[in-house]
Amino acid sequence: MDQATSKTSFIPTLCRMCGDRCAITVERDSAGRAVSVDAFPNHPRNRGRICNKAGAAIDVANHPERILKPLRKTDVGWCEIELQTALDEIAERIDSIRERHGAKSLAVWKGEAVGFNQQEGYARRFCRALGSPNYLSNDSMCFCGRYIGHSLVYGTWPQADFRNAQCILVWGSNPPASHPPINYAIMDGCANGAKLIVVDPRLSTIARQADLLVAPRPGTDGALAWGLINTLIANGWYDRDFVADQTLGFDALADYAAKFTPAVVEGETGVEAETLQAMATMIHQAAPRLAQYVGCGVELYDNGIDTIRAIAYLIGLSGSLDVKGGGFLPESLELRSLMLEDEIPLPGLTRVDNDKYPVLHDFRGETQTIDTMNAILTGDPYPLKGMILTGANPALTNPNSPKVERALAELELLVVRELFMTDTAELADYILPAASFLERSEVFCHSPSQTVTLTNRAFTIPGVQDEYDFWHDLAHRLGHGEYFPWQDEDEVNAWLLEPTGISVKELARHPEGMTYKPLRYKKWSERPLATPSGKVEFASEYLQSKGHSEIGKYRPPYYIATPEPDFPFVLISGARKAVYCHSRGRNIPRFLDILPGPSVELHPDDAVHLGVAEGDRVVIRSRNGQAEFPVEVMAANEIMPGYVQATHGWKAAANINLVTFDDKPDPISGFPTMRGVPVRIEKV
Ligand code: SF4
Repeated sequence: MDQATSKTSFIPTLCRMCGDRCAITVERDSAGRAVSVDAFPNHPRNRGRICNKAGAAIDVANHPERILKPLRKTDVGWCEIELQTALDEIAERIDSIRERHGAKSLAVWKGEAVGFNQQEGYARRFCRALGSPNYLSNDSMCFCGRYIGHSLVYGTWPQADFRNAQCILVWGSNPPASHPPINYAIMDGCANGAKLIVVDPRLSTIARQADLLVAPRPGTDGALAWGLINTLIANGWYDRDFVADQTLGFDALADYAAKFTPAVVEGETGVEAETLQAMATMIHQAAPRLAQYVGCGVELYDNGIDTIRAIAYLIGLSGSLDVKGGGFLPESLELRSLMLEDEIPLPGLTRVDNDKYPVLHDFRGETQTIDTMNAILTGDPYPLKGMILTGANPALTNPNSPKVERALAELELLVVRELFMTDTAELADYILPAASFLERSEVFCHSPSQTVTLTNRAFTIPGVQDEYDFWHDLAHRLGHGEYFPWQDEDEVNAWLLEPTGISVKELARHPEGMTYKPLRYKKWSERPLATPSGKVEFASEYLQSKGHSEIGKYRPPYYIATPEPDFPFVLISGARKAVYCHSRGRNIPRFLDILPGPSVELHPDDAVHLGVAEGDRVVIRSRNGQAEFPVEVMAANEIMPGYVQATHGWKAAANINLVTFDDKPDPISGFPTMRGVPVRIEKV
């Protein structure tokens, strides 16, 4: 809907400056330029609030460094070429690779910088149409771990109903910086009387607001969760009826939990018995209105999935599954699927990660990016020769950056669709200009509120293709046009919505979103959960059949289990700041004004011991490599002694992924150990 005045117009859409998709209104001037962003007043996601990243969508869209012409790499550098020529050449080279090595030797990688879910749908569709099982995304090292951990127990990831909760439990997340709309809901819940427990080894923004702050040693959250389970069961503080009727594996759970006495928990996590008891008491008193959120602070360890499973058990034990103020099970809108999973099943094709992570494949249908780098470099299990990336920058965001760069440089064909020249784009054979989210239209469902919204194009730039146009044009050149029959994204939107009874026109009349199903609770009493048994699975036969533990047993994280004496500090990387999203935004002046550069946080005692002060430069060195950072000396209660936290997403010598390594993954998901990395700190 375009509410036009004589000079300006206001286009309602969703923000994609981070993954939270708040409703915004974009002001467009009489020349058709986007000039400002404001909150859309009454969308259920953000209720008229936006964060300080949203306004910079305009800076991104109008940035002088934007890539607006296709580029081809030549012996003398980049040269501009016509879009149609670029697409012809790319199609020719894809065809050649396909003929020589088979379609599986090609991969598609969906990033975060340009779009919403439909972007993923197009990328997956193209990959299937091509005949390759190798769809990749950043989700295989952020998000999938939490999705899988919860889905193993409940068939999906229950969404915390913060506003109606009586106890809010946040594990390893700092929503004021990472997910502002979640923070709005948490603060609303607290204003409604909920108690807030934050589990975080750092004194983050949300931790400062907690009624109870619990600071386990990084990576030991699983032991804490098992201690809670033990305390709840030992006191009879669990929902016996729900457990008896709706769950499997309670006996195995109780048996294993019994090991986690307060003394064991304290020895492993550093959390004292009184704190454990206080936590369990708060959960018990609030049950079933326990709203729990797990952030990526927990999943980036080699014990990530089992830790998340242990934490997830608390929802079932407290009877808070799908009750008001608990863990809501959203119902989806029956949109058509772009995935082609049924139409093109690709039987018998091994993924290039050698099918090492069947659980990741079963739950998310994607190939693990970490192992993909090994496959490119070794040709094992087969050669991977070509890749198309859209809005992803793995050369900066994946662990072990030098290896990622070597692998991507090894490809016969690398095509990158991007807004700006990134470290990954530098390695490409072709760079194609990508449309920002303000230049695209998609249907998007906000699952917790069960609303559907249309994102609207605020403007277009001649010569810059949107996601659909790109995949459409390439698919038609490669003989797969039948799978991309629609003229444009608007036609795709109409096709997707067709079975729902909601039309694009109707949706456009409701920029605040349309509720597609009223919220209902306790749906598990009407129909089975989406687990193999249809019940809550404390114990998973499925996981056992894949060679893993039936219940989410605790294993100490790598740095505790395998100390490296030459590297006495423990690195946690990637705590979010209030500006920047992953590696994006480092060319936005308003962000640089707020946070001009990288830093590594040190405990004051460690700073004294190392002989460094605020602003001094240190080298962070692991067995994998080194990076150089200015020091930020924290207050004594802000970070634990012996642990350092370094920002991520910065380039060159301050790229923390020169330090992180990729050879100690979580065995279930393949997630890399991005946190809990043994390092040495040396003054420069
Ligand atoms: S949290 Fe901020 S950046 Fe993220 S979608 Fe909402 S307004 Fe945009």
